[in-house]
Amino acid sequence: MSMVIDGKAFAAGLRERVAQAVKIIGSQNGVTPGLAVVLVGEDPASQVYVRNKGKQTVEAGMDSFEYKLPVDTSEQDLLALVAQLNNDPAVNGILVQLPLPKHIDASKVINSISIDKDVDGFHTENVGKLSIGEDSLVPCTPAGCLMLLKDHIGDLTGKNAVIVGRSNIVGKPVSMLLLRESCTVTIAHSRTRDLPAVCRQADIVVAAVGVPELVKGDWIKSGAVVIDVGINRVDGKDGKSKLVGDVDYAAAMEVADGVTPVPGGVGPMTIACLLRNTVIATCRKNGIEIPSVIT
Ligand code: NAP
Repeated sequence: MSMVIDGKAFAAGLRERVAQAVKIIGSQNGVTPGLAVVLVGEDPASQVYVRNKGKQTVEAGMDSFEYKLPVDTSEQDLLALVAQLNNDPAVNGILVQLPLPKHIDASKVINSISIDKDVDGFHTENVGKLSIGEDSLVPCTPAGCLMLLKDHIGDLTGKNAVIVGRSNIVGKPVSMLLLRESCTVTIAHSRTRDLPAVCRQADIVVAAVGVPELVKGDWIKSGAVVIDVGINRVDGKDGKSKLVGDVDYAAAMEVADGVTPVPGGVGPMTIACLLRNTVIATCRKNGIEIPSVIT
């Protein structure tokens, strides 16, 4: 029987554990983690993400600092704000919401964030650390994928993992994390030959493509575990729009051992992992042991 891998429930549990960790470091060390989120412009999806991040940060007992800047903010002004946040002791994590307006060099801004406060894990130095297996702040969506896989499967050693998508924010970091778990990792992309055959080899399929229901049921090996990162808005039969993933969910559920739904799978894990990263950054900065509830 195929199982729904319930990321929504897992994320709620993780947020609860983060809140416990916040209480522990508050009572034992007198420290409250603080997360600053910077939004430039009025992209509707980004506005929703930022609002949810702020709400869940406060619910976890942390301090939330929100900066909403106009779309025509100059790169120089944004860099100045990041520098100010880097120096602010009340701020332990900094997230600059992507995408940024075209006139701003996103990589310059991300690389200006102090690596100790880079809770998105996108700074080049954190990316490098992840690649060479050093302790680093790990990107949130990939970290969420790994948690769901370990929770569902247990030991991942020796599993054949196929990651469809090679983006810097999902595909590549997921690949690095699974390699670290001693999976045999294949990274597929738009130029991969015979993608269905590649996917059929997989014990684990992670789809991070951005193409609605690209991965079909007959691409999935019987008993495989499928993590669907995709979030695609499509027209539903009733004329209303709906969200679907990069995997044909109903067909995958026929053959797989477990599949993450969209919505309610990987999506909710991202903010939960962001909150966890903020607590980790706070502990490292203050020389505090990371509470075991979140390790
Ligand atoms: P991206 O930067 O656009 O990368 C997409 C990747 O998919 C690229 O590597 C591309 O290959 C590959 N690809 C595109 N079409 C393909 C095809 N027909 N066959 C095989 N590979 C193909 O996307 P992303 O930022 O990684 O995001 C992927 C999806 O995850 C999106 O739906 C996004 O909304 C979602 N997402 C969700 C979360 C979350 O749940 N919190 C977070 C981030 C992203 P090339 O490199 O060859 O072009």
